[in-house]
Amino acid sequence: MGDDGVKKEAMDMMDEFEVLPRLVVVDLDYTLWPFYCECLSKHDMPSLYPYAKGILYALKDKGVDVAVASRSPTPDIANTFLEKLGIKSIFVAQEIFSSWTHKTDHFQKLKQRTGVPYSEMLFFDDEDRNIQAVSKMGVTSILVDDDGVDLGALRQGLSKFVQNKSSLEKNKQRWRNFSQKSTSSQN
Ligand SMILES: [Mg+2]
Repeated sequence: MGDDGVKKEAMDMMDEFEVLPRLVVVDLDYTLWPFYCECLSKHDMPSLYPYAKGILYALKDKGVDVAVASRSPTPDIANTFLEKLGIKSIFVAQEIFSSWTHKTDHFQKLKQRTGVPYSEMLFFDDEDRNIQAVSKMGVTSILVDDDGVDLGALRQGLSKFVQNKSSLEKNKQRWRNFSQKSTSSQN
């Protein structure tokens, strides 16, 4: 399909959704690219999964910020690869460090750095334990499969984001109604 074709499809898809996340966060190894960068050297030439670049550019053009959350123990190699691939400047923030937590500390840092609340974020990763931990923080989180971040994962992510947002709104409304009732019964 090529990067431009993917980008166009991704942008058309985003037009179908009334609300979009403010920040999309992606893992690197086996989400953006099909390898562990700790197993390669800085001198290697990396390549991305086939849909990754088109999707990143589509998000950017739609005004959705993009950031990285990676537990790679070799941030220097990861950074070199992002530069070589010409996508480093797309990201508004990058948290690349190894950690015992399943990326909860990466997300705390991303929230501080960007000011975007967890409920306005969408996250893609290939490891279920990260998905579990980060979704408990209130971030809509999607497990990617063998193609890394692709159009199917994007659609799933945008749909789930809308669902989570509307149930959050409903809960807020319920709480507002409840507290109004209890205030008026006190008067
Ligand atoms: Mg990974």
